[in-house]
Amino acid sequence: MTSKKKFLIIGAGLSGITTSLELIKRGHQVSIIDNNVNFSSRIAAGIINPLVFRRMTKSWRVDDFIPFLKSHYKELEELTKSVFFHELPIRRLFSSEQERDFWLEKQEREEFKPFMFKVNDDDMGFDLAKNPFGSGRVKETYYIDVLPFLTGTKEWLKENATIINEEFNQNILEGTTYRSITYDDIIFCQGYLNPDNVLFSDLPLDQTKGQTLTIKSAVLPKDVSLNRKCFMLPRGSGTFKIGSTYEWNDPTTHTTKEAKQELLNNLSYIIDEDVEVLSQEAGIRPTTRDRRPLVGTHKTFQNYHIINGLGAKGYMLAPLICEEFCDYLLNGKELDPEIDINRYYRRNNP
Ligand SMILES: Cc1cc2nc3c(=O)[nH]c(=O)nc-3n(C[C@H](O)[C@H](O)[C@H](O)COP(=O)(O)OP(=O)(O)OC[C@H]3O[C@@H](n4cnc5c(N)ncnc54)[C@H](O)[C@@H]3O)c2cc1C
Repeated sequence: MTSKKKFLIIGAGLSGITTSLELIKRGHQVSIIDNNVNFSSRIAAGIINPLVFRRMTKSWRVDDFIPFLKSHYKELEELTKSVFFHELPIRRLFSSEQERDFWLEKQEREEFKPFMFKVNDDDMGFDLAKNPFGSGRVKETYYIDVLPFLTGTKEWLKENATIINEEFNQNILEGTTYRSITYDDIIFCQGYLNPDNVLFSDLPLDQTKGQTLTIKSAVLPKDVSLNRKCFMLPRGSGTFKIGSTYEWNDPTTHTTKEAKQELLNNLSYIIDEDVEVLSQEAGIRPTTRDRRPLVGTHKTFQNYHIINGLGAKGYMLAPLICEEFCDYLLNGKELDPEIDINRYYRRNNP
């Protein structure tokens, strides 16, 4: 048993929460600072999809992530006495004959079999949406209902950690002492706000804006998430979330008319209906150019660490990535070189 350590975590989004829970589970003491300005984990659709439709490939390390997240979120539901982890059938409406043929070829490959149902006559004739080229169903698909997830885990953390609701002030951090309390290590989990952090601002983190709509529809099916040009996620009572845009040059959290129009236009590839728009939201994903998380220790200050860059699939990645970080920090296990921030430090200082 390692001795009890004291950690300060900056940021109570998905990465900060998941890391805090893991450290507490391992017997350590955690304080978390959060400014309650969350425009990522709170805005996310929470969809877990093992495929990348655009390239018709498996998502990175999905064979590791899916089994791990299933037991992780189920355990977390029990621990926090909350309900947020759900199965979610996902159907991809093919956008061309070429895409259908690509799917038919992939579905025969061993590595895709755990994630693709074989296309059958019902998939070709699916008529609850526009389906001119047929469609395919994905296996191992889930969604996290993000508000009960955030509320449930934060309530638990209130009982089992110290939560400090304030803006973290880097100017008063002295070594590992913050507001007269000395910690063993400090872990920065600030999501897209990382560029404000002078310690890690040299890491190439991009801010990728995403907007979603909540609509009311009389015709969309209520028990399956359809995907073509955009996703639609059934949210009950005839409402659906539609998303998301990818915008690289606007790191603000304002919604825009252009994004609304783009999403409605994309939806017209799925249904012909004048839907009622109930609300629109904007958030920002913390992304990286190589599409891999940023995890590791500061090049000079060995007690400062970072977990960031969870990208567009944070709810799939976070459970195992945060566990791997804890194994690295507490047990000296090597990080996956693909996530280790040393990949950037080495590149800059070969
Ligand atoms: C529109 C949209 C749709 C998405 N859909 C999905 C999806 O379907 N599936 C999926 O898996 N992922 C999805 N994501 C991605 C997912 O939301 C992110 O990967 C994940 O939430 C990132 O979590 P994080 O903890 O790194 O960052 P955040 O959630 O941003 O958390 C960082 C926290 O740190 C706090 N903070 C930062 N700086 C300070 C400071 N100085 N002082 C105090 N507190 C501070 C912030 O307030 C925030 O609470 C989506 C994202 C968006 C924007």
